[in-house]
Amino acid sequence: MECTEPDCERAGTVELHIPWDDNRLVCAPHARVLGRQDGVVADPSPDSGDELLE
Ligand SMILES: [Zn+2]
Repeated sequence: MECTEPDCERAGTVELHIPWDDNRLVCAPHARVLGRQDGVVADPSPDSGDELLE
């Protein structure tokens, strides 16, 4: 899946848990930016977690 942010074509590798909105799948750079907001939890996607470890 691709990053769900507008105009972003990178692969979505991190699931963001957003208390005031639906969860989103975003790329690592967007996860860094969006994950700074209070209450947001950035969770590496289970699908890509294995790839990151290899
Ligand atoms: Zn992105």
